[in-house]
Amino acid sequence: MKQKFEIAVFQGDGIGPEIMGPTLDILQKLAQKSEGYGLQFHDAPAGAAHYRETGESLPAGSLEIARKADAILLSAMGLPDVRYADGTEISPQIDLRKILVLFAGVRPVTVRKDQRSPLNMPAGKEIDFVLLRESTEGLFHTQGRGEVSATEARETLLITRDISEKLFRFAFALARTRKENGRGRGRVTCVDKANVFRAFAFFRQIFDEEAKKHPDLSADHAYVDATALWMVQKPWEFDVLVTENMFGDILSDLGAGLMGGLGLAPSADIGLEHALFQPCHGSAPDIAGQGVANPLAMILSAALMLDWLGIKHDNRALVDDGARLRIAVETVVAEQRALTRDLGGTAGTIAAAAAVQEALSL
Ligand code: ATP
Repeated sequence: MKQKFEIAVFQGDGIGPEIMGPTLDILQKLAQKSEGYGLQFHDAPAGAAHYRETGESLPAGSLEIARKADAILLSAMGLPDVRYADGTEISPQIDLRKILVLFAGVRPVTVRKDQRSPLNMPAGKEIDFVLLRESTEGLFHTQGRGEVSATEARETLLITRDISEKLFRFAFALARTRKENGRGRGRVTCVDKANVFRAFAFFRQIFDEEAKKHPDLSADHAYVDATALWMVQKPWEFDVLVTENMFGDILSDLGAGLMGGLGLAPSADIGLEHALFQPCHGSAPDIAGQGVANPLAMILSAALMLDWLGIKHDNRALVDDGARLRIAVETVVAEQRALTRDLGGTAGTIAAAAAVQEALSL
């Protein structure tokens, strides 16, 4: 019996629809061939262009589609010239994180043996770690509400016990699953600045409390500045890194850099009930409409969605297709089959996605 899943689809702005189209095409074909699951997509209008047209960036109807769905797929939202009255950018993806309490930002960083990377990788080394970014509080707590006067500006960093406990529980569960699947050594590193800020000492203390409950896994700490250095010097040593919102925001772009660019960096924002999958990059208005955007980060995010749905609903076919889709993208990149401009190739969006379909024999 095919298990059926409803997917909310935010096509977004800029290159959003260009990379979402071929991704949905791949997902549709995988689902049609599968005996274990079916997918139904529901379009949810939102974003900067939608705001310009209607005065609403995240309509209630779209939020409802997201709430009801089994998972949310989002490409990219925001346009530099469309802003709220206070000058801030339109970013419904950040609103969704807060409204749906998607506290765990999952940012996998992988560089396979033959993949090009700006790092000089020692022979035989591969990078395969996950950066977990808390996504609802931290330094983003007062986002859009910071106090600014003529002489000073203030934003507040918030760390709560409730969200930190959920985040660390998620981090150790992730490390355990990775270890079981032969993808990590079962190590979780808390990345903070506990030597300077009391809020991070608190964050670390909650981490240590959770770590004690998992004697089968190893736990350690690193300061965020040292972590930035080690991500360049020895990234193959990491397994699961867990950190505050802003630190995670910055380190995840460094992670994308290790992979050769934003066009290859997927992400998931996961809560206890809902989950949203989107590439790390933005709407890239500078290349929108040209057919040259790299669809691979979007496709890898869809692979994360299949994997998450499969684990949540105990559906082996979904987990297997998630892995197949990820490996197909890794093969296309490692063998340089149809690379887009950002990765040094000449292929367009459609050709890059077609190479993934070919690798999957769809
Ligand atoms: P945001 O703040 O919304 O994350 P941003 O302003 O940091 O976005 P992006 O929209 O991610 O920036 O674009 C940064 C650069 O990376 C741009 O030059 C863009 O063209 C390029 N880029 C981003 N995504 C892709 C992609 N999928 N394919 C090719 N180039 C991309």
